[in-house]
Amino acid sequence: MPLSNSQYDRIMRDYSARALFHANELAEHERLAYAAVPRLREIKDEVASLCASQARKKILGDTSGELDLSQKLSFLAAEKANLLETYEFPADYLDLKYDCPICKDTGVDGHRRCKCFTVRATQLLYTDSGLKNVLEAENFDTFDLSRFPEDDVRSMGDKKISVRDNMKNILARCKAYAENFDRSKKSLLFTGPVGCGKTFMTHCIAKALMDKDFSVIYQSADRFCDTLANAQFHNDDSYDDDAELMQMYEDVDLLIIDDLGTEYANSYTAAKLFNYINHRISYGQATIISSNLSIAELTKAYTERMTSRFFGNYDIFLFFGPDQRRQKYSKK
Ligand SMILES: [Zn+2]
Repeated sequence: MPLSNSQYDRIMRDYSARALFHANELAEHERLAYAAVPRLREIKDEVASLCASQARKKILGDTSGELDLSQKLSFLAAEKANLLETYEFPADYLDLKYDCPICKDTGVDGHRRCKCFTVRATQLLYTDSGLKNVLEAENFDTFDLSRFPEDDVRSMGDKKISVRDNMKNILARCKAYAENFDRSKKSLLFTGPVGCGKTFMTHCIAKALMDKDFSVIYQSADRFCDTLANAQFHNDDSYDDDAELMQMYEDVDLLIIDDLGTEYANSYTAAKLFNYINHRISYGQATIISSNLSIAELTKAYTERMTSRFFGNYDIFLFFGPDQRRQKYSKK
């Protein structure tokens, strides 16, 4: 699922288009402001010529007058601010704007990809993979509590609770989780048998967060574990596909690993998975893992070290109820 070259080009073209849009916007603002207040254009020209002559002097090794220059520039800036205010233009009317102030719409923040690049990359991957359509159908707005039976009451610890009330609690907690995501960034573990709403709930959270421009990667556990096992970082800074994917796993705001089972619990992948989960916990990054295994089965399949890490750092949600998928087909 890493970006193809053409997807990468699409994102970079989009950055260029945004830069062009803002350049045109500034040109239009300048046209209007200079027509209303000609002195503003003179100020711009004076700033340009002062900077150019200082640059010429610097090339010749003469650094005198730098203090003088910065003083002149701040006088001109004050005069400009004053004029904008007097003629009722917004204070930033003649500034070049950016959609992302961190990378100034270049997609690069220092030596790393900017957060906004990761958001765009994950959104594009979703659109292209078709998952966007799934999320349009499966989200908090379409969640139907009436599908979960009220009269099916089960024991949870020493309490008894209906399947519907349990789901109602989970739904409320997951909505609050999505609403407060920027503050809490907690990790969640969804456990319970097949078909009782875990995947649907991960879709709800993914959609809510992507709508708020968080980057989300949704990955099946088998693909995830393959990537962990295969990723190779090369010394010459080039990546193979798995390494590129690993990088995205590390950058992403929320990683959802769906359907973690026993089959990945060989000691090599389990150890890598453990390191990876630790890594995200220590960097305060959120992960949601869903598994058909019960807590007891997870503890048996994975090391105690790993499961205790889950219990200490993940909010655990117990799903139960009749298999919704089977119900859906039997009703047809
Ligand atoms: Zn950015």
